[in-house]
Amino acid sequence: MWYESLAFETPVDLQAAVKAAQRPGTKLICGGTDVVVQFHHPVPDVQRLLNIGQIPELKRLEFSCGQLIIGSAVCFAEFLQKAASIFSPLTEAVAQIASPSIRNLASFGGNIINASPSGDTLPVLYALDAELTLLSTNGERVIQIEDFITGPGATKCQPGEILIDIRMKLPEQYQYQYHKFGSRKALSCAKVNFLGMRLKQTDQIRLVYGAVAPTVLRLREAERMYEEGYLAEIPKTVNRLVKPIDDQRSTAAYRRYLCVTMTRRFLQKISE
Ligand SMILES: Cc1cc2nc3c(=O)[nH]c(=O)nc-3n(C[C@H](O)[C@H](O)[C@H](O)COP(=O)(O)OP(=O)(O)OC[C@H]3O[C@@H](n4cnc5c(N)ncnc54)[C@H](O)[C@@H]3O)c2cc1C
Repeated sequence: MWYESLAFETPVDLQAAVKAAQRPGTKLICGGTDVVVQFHHPVPDVQRLLNIGQIPELKRLEFSCGQLIIGSAVCFAEFLQKAASIFSPLTEAVAQIASPSIRNLASFGGNIINASPSGDTLPVLYALDAELTLLSTNGERVIQIEDFITGPGATKCQPGEILIDIRMKLPEQYQYQYHKFGSRKALSCAKVNFLGMRLKQTDQIRLVYGAVAPTVLRLREAERMYEEGYLAEIPKTVNRLVKPIDDQRSTAAYRRYLCVTMTRRFLQKISE
């Protein structure tokens, strides 16, 4: 295989990793569950893999003063083992990803950088305005997830930049519905994933849809309609704003139907 000739490095020191990431021809790898699939076809210009999965700063998992910090290299199995009780919407989303063997490898950082419109952690991160910390030899910067992901597989991650962690303020009281629609219960990418969340303290809602546009969609216009009391108009607005396509996983029409139906059910639940 073409990739057998690649150099493979596993730094444990963050500064050493940041320096190493600058070298042309370097590809970052964490769990490898996306990278290895992409490597079925030769990827030009890659000369070495830089495994960032053993760096302590990227393995942080902390919850204090209402803020959850997840290191980019935290894998889903570790999250479920150590933090399942902290925030149910994220736990529910993570628990439905792939299979136990993939969850033992696949990381939060990889899910974000891979930027799939159906990435299963993304709806929750969009709903919470998660902030991403990135580091390079030029220093550190923080960017909101919605500004960071720009299209399928496309982000504002600069060459040589490492995603360090994901930070989000968790609401104290909330209601939510999370749904992932796939062809099977395990090892299935979403036809649609949906998160509806009501923040009880402010009586605001979050409506987030995956796999129905080039990026995950947070429908702020529909969220505002809830605040203004136009509940009956929200499903129509969702129908107008989602942009699903036909592909091997589903039809655009079915995806649209799921988005509208899930929205209706969520609104009904929070109105009871
Ligand atoms: C069989 C199978 C089933 C799957 N099912 C699902 C599913 O149900 N839901 C879902 O959402 N995904 C699924 N995936 C996709 C994949 O598992 C996830 O996207 C996973 O989170 C990727 O994490 P990783 O650590 O393996 O990333 P890697 O493959 O190591 O890396 C992915 C990308 O991110 C970059 N990268 C990784 N870490 C960093 C970092 N810290 N800073 C900068 N760049 C970085 C890499 O260079 C690469 O471009 C599946 C994959 C497979 C193979």
